[in-house]
Amino acid sequence: MSVTPEQAAEIEALRAETRPTLRATSAGMEAHLYTAYPVLDHGFVRVVDYMGDDAAICQAARVSYGRGTKSVQNDEGLIRYLMRHWHSTPFEMCEIKLHVKLPVFVARQWIRHRTANVNEYSARYSILDREFYIPERDALAAQSVVNNQGRGEALTGEEADRVLRYLRDDAMRAYDHYEEMISSDGQQGLARELARMNLPANIYTQWYWKVDLHNLLHFLRLRADAHAQYEIRVYADEICKVVADWVPFAFRAFEDYRMGGATLSSTALDCVRRMLKGEEVTQETSGMSKGEWREFQAVLG
Ligand SMILES: Cc1cc2nc3c(=O)[nH]c(=O)nc-3n(C[C@H](O)[C@H](O)[C@H](O)COP(=O)(O)OP(=O)(O)OC[C@H]3O[C@@H](n4cnc5c(N)ncnc54)[C@H](O)[C@@H]3O)c2cc1C
Repeated sequence: MSVTPEQAAEIEALRAETRPTLRATSAGMEAHLYTAYPVLDHGFVRVVDYMGDDAAICQAARVSYGRGTKSVQNDEGLIRYLMRHWHSTPFEMCEIKLHVKLPVFVARQWIRHRTANVNEYSARYSILDREFYIPERDALAAQSVVNNQGRGEALTGEEADRVLRYLRDDAMRAYDHYEEMISSDGQQGLARELARMNLPANIYTQWYWKVDLHNLLHFLRLRADAHAQYEIRVYADEICKVVADWVPFAFRAFEDYRMGGATLSSTALDCVRRMLKGEEVTQETSGMSKGEWREFQAVLG
């Protein structure tokens, strides 16, 4: 379960309470605020707080005294210009604070994004819940034979059954021992900070994660990408939906220039120019390695 009925009631109570403010708010984001969106089998992502909107990006770029808004087209044009030319600091004026519940092995990838502020649930202080990520059957893929960091065909039949059984049994056995070690039962019981070391990496943890929009978009560029591991990508995809409603101009520019766009080396650009002139360029005549050529072909579709 992503959130318990008690937690859902707390969130509802927060959403029912409104406060007047002079600060800029984003109607799109207000609709998401506090709501926990389920991810994987027990995880979620929810916005706890935010600062700024599309107008705040323009306001900072123009260093203006008021809202900094000229006209809607003008603002979107400015945001696209900033994104296109990597003028990134105006995007840092917007901030978001997320509450995320995620498996520990996903957290290990996520924490590599150093330009955020994090506070994690303390397993020294609190007892972890018996919640483990067990993949859906169709997410149980074999090791890829072409990409050492990727997945191949889905496992099926007996093999899938065996893997699921190992994942469930090992998690439950480790948790039973964890519980046994920390339980006092007349004796002292092992410290929580030690007992946790026996738990597998698919156990869930939680954290508050605060980041500015520029660094969030960098995170999303890497983790909502098809090459990112599925288990972190589903979180990034959920965050993308929120960001699209929070700062629609910035997100559209990001989708266009970063997610949908591509960077070409000068060698690749030279090949494009030669192709446009009618020359038949091959990998051998391109000046690119086989890998570069393969990626270049993929960019050209
Ligand atoms: C598909 C994929 C596969 C990966 N595989 C591996 C792997 O096999 N092994 C592995 O270890 N990691 C791996 N990573 C993690 C990757 O190398 C980065 O650590 C991670 O994506 C965070 O990116 P970042 O450092 O740009 O982000 P952030 O930490 O948010 O930093 C943003 C930018 O700030 C600057 N910056 C931040 N801190 C510093 C600093 N201390 N010094 C200098 N500049 C800094 C850099 O310019 C950086 O790009 C992988 C990531 C992806 C997306």
